[in-house]
Amino acid sequence: MIPGSCLCGKIQYELSGEPVNAVMCFCNNCRKTTGSLGMANSWYTKQNFKFTKGADDIRTYEDHATDSGATVERSFCPNCGSPLVAMNAKYPDLVIVTYGTMELGEGQTWKPGMEFFCKRKIEWLGTPAETRKFHEL
Ligand SMILES: [Zn+2]
Ligand SMILES: [Zn+2]
Repeated sequence: MIPGSCLCGKIQYELSGEPVNAVMCFCNNCRKTTGSLGMANSWYTKQNFKFTKGADDIRTYEDHATDSGATVERSFCPNCGSPLVAMNAKYPDLVIVTYGTMELGEGQTWKPGMEFFCKRKIEWLGTPAETRKFHEL
């Protein structure tokens, strides 16, 4: 079990089981929504994700203008603004959970298996050689 929360702690969740995938996405919208180089996240099945606090408070932005063309529902804490989870209409059974909000314990780590939109990745950023890299999605 991996717990997670936003910056202010108003929204909390729990992950169980293994993620389906671990991804870094460098698309324009993931950069905008994080304010950073891209988004690092793990994909969990819906049954392996649950909110433990603040589920009714979470706000969702429907992102229609994605690079991939798929609608992405991006959910965030209305108090501190942390992006927590996203749902991609292309993968309705999965919850995309932001790496930065996971509270990994001692000895637990996170590593991407795939990278999307590498064409938008900043030139100097090094990532593991063995990830499957996609020019787009
Ligand atoms: Zn918060
Ligand atoms: Zn993206």
